[in-house]
Amino acid sequence: MLLKGKCAVVTGAGKGIGRAIALKLAEQGANIVINYRSSEKEAEEVVQAIEEAGGAAFAVKADVSKFDEAEKLIKGAQEKFGRVDILVNNAGITKDTLLLRMKEEDFDSVISVNLKGCFNCVKHVSPIMLKQKSGRIINISSVIGLVGNAGQANYAASKAGIIGLTKSVAKELGSRGITVNAVAPGFIETDMTDVLSDKIKESMQDSIPLKRLGKTSDVAEAVAFLASEGASYITGQVINVDGGMVV
Ligand code: NAP
Repeated sequence: MLLKGKCAVVTGAGKGIGRAIALKLAEQGANIVINYRSSEKEAEEVVQAIEEAGGAAFAVKADVSKFDEAEKLIKGAQEKFGRVDILVNNAGITKDTLLLRMKEEDFDSVISVNLKGCFNCVKHVSPIMLKQKSGRIINISSVIGLVGNAGQANYAASKAGIIGLTKSVAKELGSRGITVNAVAPGFIETDMTDVLSDKIKESMQDSIPLKRLGKTSDVAEAVAFLASEGASYITGQVINVDGGMVV
C-alpha cells in the first residue's frame, strides 16, 4: 500500500490506458478520481471495481479541454479527499489524416483536448500541490511526439507540446517538492489503436524489438513508479514505454 491516503486524479479513466492507471494506483492504496467525458457507464464500472477491492473512488464528468470543467474536476477531488497528490493527464484523442486533408477543426480539437486539457489540469492542480509542498504530475505523451508520424501532424504536435510543458513545469515547481514527468507509450492495444488493420498491427509488431504490442498495464506500471516514493528524485523526464519501438 505504497500510496495509502494519497489522492490521485486520472483524466480519461473510464477505459483504455487511463482505466489501467486508475486500477493500479488504487491497488497501491490511493483514493481515485475517475474523470470521463462521455463514457459514464465505463467510468462507474471502474469506480465499482475499485470499491469492490476495498478502495475509494468516484467518477467526475468533465471535458478537460474546457478550463472551467478542469477546475471543477480538480476542486471536486480536493473537496472529496482533502488533497490532490497525484495528477495523471491521460485524456487524449486522435483525428488522423494527412496534412493536405487535415481540416482546421481536426487540428484544433486534438490540440485542445491533448495539450490544452493537460495545461488546464496542471494549472488548477498546481496551487493545491504548492500549498502541500508535494505532488506528482504525470502526463501521458506518445512516442509520436518524439519521432512524428505521417497522418498525425496534429497528434504529434500535441504530444510534443506535452513534453515541452512537462519540462517547463518541472523547472517551475521542482523547488516545492513537486515532480512533473511524461510517459510516452508506443503502440498499446486499446480502442484508440483498435481502428488499425491487422496488417498494420502485424507490421508494427515486427518493428518492435520486444516483438509484441504494449498492454495498458505496461503503461500503468511506469505511471505507478513515477507516482511512488522511489521516483522522488526524477523530474522533467520522458519515459518511453514502447518495447524499444523508437530506439
Ligand atoms: P482511448 O481508449 O481512446 O481512451 C481515451 C480516453 O480519453 C477516454 O477515457 C476518453 O473518455 C478520454 N477523453 C477524450 N477526450 C476527453 C476530454 N475532452 N475530456 C476528458 N476525457 C477525454 O485511448 P487510450 O489508448 O487509452 O489513450 C490514453 C492516452 O494514451 C491518450 O492520451 C493517448 O494519446 C495516449 N497514447 C495511447 C497510445 C496507444 O497506443 N493506445 C500510444 C501513445 C499514447 P470518454 O470515453 O469518456 O470520452
